[in-house]
Amino acid sequence: MSGTLLANEPVVRMVFFLGVLGAMAIWELSAPRRRIEIPRVVRWTNNLGMVVLDTLIVRFTYPVAAVGLALLADQKGWGLFNMIDAPDWLAIVLAVVLLDLAIYLQHVLFHAVPALWRLHRMHHADVGFDVTTGLRFHPLEILISMAIKMGLVLALGPPAVAVLVFEILLNATAMFNHSNIHLPAKVDRVLRLFVVTPDMHRVHHSVDRRETDSNYGFNLPWWDRLLGTYVAQPRQGHEGMTIGIEQFRSRRDQWMDRLLLQPLRGPARVSDLCDKERPDNQTG
Ligand SMILES: [Zn+2]
Ligand SMILES: [Zn+2]
Repeated sequence: MSGTLLANEPVVRMVFFLGVLGAMAIWELSAPRRRIEIPRVVRWTNNLGMVVLDTLIVRFTYPVAAVGLALLADQKGWGLFNMIDAPDWLAIVLAVVLLDLAIYLQHVLFHAVPALWRLHRMHHADVGFDVTTGLRFHPLEILISMAIKMGLVLALGPPAVAVLVFEILLNATAMFNHSNIHLPAKVDRVLRLFVVTPDMHRVHHSVDRRETDSNYGFNLPWWDRLLGTYVAQPRQGHEGMTIGIEQFRSRRDQWMDRLLLQPLRGPARVSDLCDKERPDNQTG
């Protein structure tokens, strides 16, 4: 089965991407969680435009994708998994879990290092929170995380199918856990034992820094609980909380040209400045 999956990689990816995007969009329209002020056409055009740009840049920057590199590592016997003799299913499960832990740690790093935060804050600066937010990342952040993933694939030598499963899973869960859908509290409580839910990840998009720097997980919710970064609910409630960061809150700030240049603008974090240094008009 893994052979068929790998042979049809681009089609498999595209089917999952469009399928989950379409399903979440319909779900958002029929049972929305919050009202989003900025018209959908502005955010969707620019957020999805960024996805197209990111995809093109990665294609032209890296000669081989992470899955291709895993196949090469397998042929050459590189990496941890190619040195031990674990059954296939165990190697796949372990590799997916380890890659997920790595993504969690990388996310913590992107919040902690000011230069990296400048790139990652573009994701947080979305004043809406919906399925397209989960796809909106600065191209430089995508390139850096791809490099980290390549290094990890070389060190671990995971089964190629595990890398593909992980990438499809991450893409799908990112769209799910950013979606503006209403899930009954009871369902959310059970679901978030196994996967990061929209209510859990929305806390991470709060303007309140104590909440921004929490709930870093994308797939598995366990790392936050194990490593002490878990916050169950936003202080202001899901309807009352403010989404985004203090800077870049205007409608114009949601356009692609502004998004691309955003890492160069203003201080890394407004909350790091004392009040008198704070620019008077961050909303203009
Ligand atoms: Zn973040
Ligand atoms: Zn997010």
